Amino acid sequence: MDAGTAIVGINWGDEGKGRMVDLLTESFDVVVRFQGGGNAGHTVINKYGEFMLHLLPSGVFRPNVVNVLGNGVALDPEHLINEIKTLQDKGVDITPENVKISERASLLLPWHRWLDALEENRLADKQFGSTKKGIAPFYSDKYAKKTVLAGELFYPELLRQHLQDLKQWKNMTLTRVYDQAPVTDEAIDTWIRSYCEPLKPFIQDTTEYLTKARAEHKRILFEGQLGALRDLDFGIYPYTTSSNVLTGYAPIGAGLPDEKIDRVIGVVKAYSSCVGEGPFVCEMFGEEAEKLRRLGGEYGHRPHRVGPIDLVATRYGVKIQAATEIALTKLDILSNYDEIPLCVRYKLNGEETDKMPFPCLLDKCEPVIEYMKGWKCDISNVRTWWDLPQEAKDYVKRIEDSMGVIIKWISVGPERHSIIRRG
Ligand code: GDP
Repeated sequence: MDAGTAIVGINWGDEGKGRMVDLLTESFDVVVRFQGGGNAGHTVINKYGEFMLHLLPSGVFRPNVVNVLGNGVALDPEHLINEIKTLQDKGVDITPENVKISERASLLLPWHRWLDALEENRLADKQFGSTKKGIAPFYSDKYAKKTVLAGELFYPELLRQHLQDLKQWKNMTLTRVYDQAPVTDEAIDTWIRSYCEPLKPFIQDTTEYLTKARAEHKRILFEGQLGALRDLDFGIYPYTTSSNVLTGYAPIGAGLPDEKIDRVIGVVKAYSSCVGEGPFVCEMFGEEAEKLRRLGGEYGHRPHRVGPIDLVATRYGVKIQAATEIALTKLDILSNYDEIPLCVRYKLNGEETDKMPFPCLLDKCEPVIEYMKGWKCDISNVRTWWDLPQEAKDYVKRIEDSMGVIIKWISVGPERHSIIRRG
């Protein structure tokens, strides 16, 4: 029985989790998102087209898969409604039968996004690189118990009073700290009508649903967002996200707190990329970086920072995610190199270390780089381990040996079928 499987990021995010979940969902009945919100995208390419999924679990493209947004998610009604509409317009079936939202998910309120942008502007040249989707203000308020639960939408009078209280409190910050206009009742009413009401058919007690699904031996996949190094508690603080992205949190955020996850698929990228600010020890610059960025398509709303695979950070990510098997993605991107660099250790205060240093020491670290021979041929059509060039196998084995966890999947292209299954 395959209950209790998680798929999570090992690095800084953008590892290619979306394409792996899209592939793996053929073996699962239920996919559950357990944290995060509209702040990171999973790219999925399939017969319907190319999609960026932010909030919806990546199982939405499989007809028989039920997708659950757990209580740990930052539920942004406006964002979710727009995402659902975009998919429906392209012919993807999204109904309360295949998408279920936890009544215990907290709502990301309109002012969370505004406050995120206002604070980022205030920070000026000390910005953290927030995506301005309201995630940090949302999680701050969630833990301060200053937001509302999705299930409150079914009690309009109580909801209105609750929002009134929150609005009055939040208006003090908006007007006195940031010198902005206060939120009005009309704005809240419009928000409820336009974005919250249409979500009501999807909201239910998902813990009850998942408990029943598990009892019926349905196979459940817990889908993580971002990567281990962005975890609030164990990532590179304060350059983290505001939620826990680790497998350890998955049962809580998904709404199955008594679940034991025994299979953890960690997604590792064959090189490194990082969006936003913060220490990134293996970072490349200049022409070398530009080449990798171009080959890897590492551009979002701004160019991504790139570097060779970082074995120190990757080993740490594997450990804190408790990964039991690895999917290595984007190996095809490295096909054009005579020599492939790897960051094998860090140098800190003149000494080499292979242990992940405390976050505030990372800025003092330098990468120790080793090179391996490249394979210099197109591998995007390779489908078996045996057909990979020896140099590619050596590169994969080197990463595997460093992590101490088996690489079971090697992705050589963004499409569903561009995969080598190993072992
Ligand atoms: P996620 O946030 O971890 O789901 O990662 P993304 O969805 O942002 O994936 C990063 C990008 O890499 C997307 O454009 C994917 O289509 C692409 N991608 C994923 N795996 C591969 C691969 O093996 N090869 C290539 N060339 N592209 C890939």
